Amino acid sequence: MTYDPNNIFAKILRGEIPCNKVYEDEYALAFHDINPQAPVHVLVIPKGEYVSMADFTADAPDELITGFFRAVGTVAKELGLVEPGYRTLANAGAHAHQEVPHLHIHIFGGVPLGPMLDRQFSNN
Ligand code: AMP
Repeated sequence: MTYDPNNIFAKILRGEIPCNKVYEDEYALAFHDINPQAPVHVLVIPKGEYVSMADFTADAPDELITGFFRAVGTVAKELGLVEPGYRTLANAGAHAHQEVPHLHIHIFGGVPLGPMLDRQFSNN
């Protein structure tokens, strides 16, 4: 999939539309999800043109990959989520219902989060 520079997160990165920012460094930007699915629901996006985990891990410079994942950990820590626990999630492609074609990690927290996936797919 080729990167669409007009996707909404690209516009946020360029400052063309606002976000409710929680963290920024040279590698990543984190902001509150506009339609939160948990009391804490933050998105962390890399500063680069990557659709999802596949092209990011294949093509991004090592420094960006390291910096991005460090930022995810830093954001979770700064949000006070490490001790109570939290969940990270990255949707990729149609089966995962990825809506925005710019790699993003969801951070969910603030309550017990229940099962990892819809129960229809589990054996118990
Ligand atoms: P995904 O299905 O993993 O691609 O998730 C995209 C997420 O982006 C959804 O949770 C949306 O609520 C969120 N989202 C879409 N537009 C914005 C925006 N302008 N600011 C913050 N979050 C957004």
